[in-house]
Amino acid sequence: MEVLEVARELVRNVALCDRCMGRMFASLSVGLSNKERGVAIKRALVMEYHRQIKEGSEEAKEEFRKAAPRIGSEAAALYRSLFGEELSSEPCFICGDRLEEFIEKAAEKGRELLTLTNARSFLVGVRAAKGIARAEEQLISRFSLAFAESIKREIKREVGKRIAREGLRVDFEEPEAVLLVKFPSGDAKVQLASLLLKGRYWKRGRLISQAFWPSPEGKKYYSVEEACWSILRLADGKSLSIHAAGREDVDARMLGSGRPMVIEIKEPRNREVDERGAEMAVREASRGVVEVSLSGRAKRGLVRVYKEESKLRSKVYRALVVVEEGLSEAELLRVEDQLRGALVRQRTPTRVLHRRSDVERVKRVLGIKCMLLNSTTAECLIWASGGLYVKELVSGDNGRTSPSFSSILGKRAECVELDVLFVEMPLGSE
Ligand SMILES: [Zn+2]
Repeated sequence: MEVLEVARELVRNVALCDRCMGRMFASLSVGLSNKERGVAIKRALVMEYHRQIKEGSEEAKEEFRKAAPRIGSEAAALYRSLFGEELSSEPCFICGDRLEEFIEKAAEKGRELLTLTNARSFLVGVRAAKGIARAEEQLISRFSLAFAESIKREIKREVGKRIAREGLRVDFEEPEAVLLVKFPSGDAKVQLASLLLKGRYWKRGRLISQAFWPSPEGKKYYSVEEACWSILRLADGKSLSIHAAGREDVDARMLGSGRPMVIEIKEPRNREVDERGAEMAVREASRGVVEVSLSGRAKRGLVRVYKEESKLRSKVYRALVVVEEGLSEAELLRVEDQLRGALVRQRTPTRVLHRRSDVERVKRVLGIKCMLLNSTTAECLIWASGGLYVKELVSGDNGRTSPSFSSILGKRAECVELDVLFVEMPLGSE
């Protein structure tokens, strides 16, 4: 069916404002707003009625008399000249004549809200009242309007277009802020996207946890997250969390390469955090026991990469091993020989059984080098596949880990100090 035939069929049945009429043909012609489209269609429609009426069609005149209130202002002049009275229009079947004003007001409100946030990019999200969306869908299907678009899409585009300016652009991929508007109530709010900073952290002291972890008795340990609260203040955000590529025990230091992480700052009002200043603030806040280095923004996907892949990446540890019964160079060499390249079967360590299920896993010791410090103590560098429990590799955990230092020596060995020196970067993270 031709455009005008469809439009005529529409006005025989329902009233549509200019925007809603135009939107029913939204993908026809380019460079027009739906409003312009609607006006053009309505004018052409009125001309066609006029032609038929001029050619003497009483039928067309009668039809126009009924349809004119549904067409609206475009029909007013002809209506007046034909029937000698003013036209009173019917409200739009879909939007109740509220759409035009809504778009202007939502844009104004959105502009104000977004300006307060300092965001540089945004996206408009729209919620339309159920009845409105349903009325529109029914109309589209009843009249087979193949070129129509939804009212939500129109609001999204029109509001976005009005707000966008230099320094505040629409971004569909990773907007810094999402402006949510509700039609027709006009409620509007802004949700700020988190600021994700890529970096690494170092723990130069022991008994520091990664996450801030308050318990009813208060917090037990100082944490890397706490040290980073100074960055939270710089970004003027609401809360902060760390997504790291794995984590070490509370009593283990994180030295050497540092551990890759993403710092997430929720609802930041300042996204221009000076990285060097932030690093210094962390160092000062923690008196040097926690350090971070920052290297720009991270994409959300990196958090997932860290979560999933960190278990698979190898690590290098430094373990201080004590054997109370005494330890010789020859015994240490035996440990090195038997563990180098060895597959180690580990049941979940006794110390974490209360929070993890009891499973057996097989990990590999990729490399090992030990140095005897005195008759009972050795310092060992252990390169292991991700997820190997090093303390248990030393102690044997009553046979739950095998082989182990203890099982090879036939003596009780214990890891009294543990440091992580190197964390292999997850694939695709740099
Ligand atoms: Zn409308």
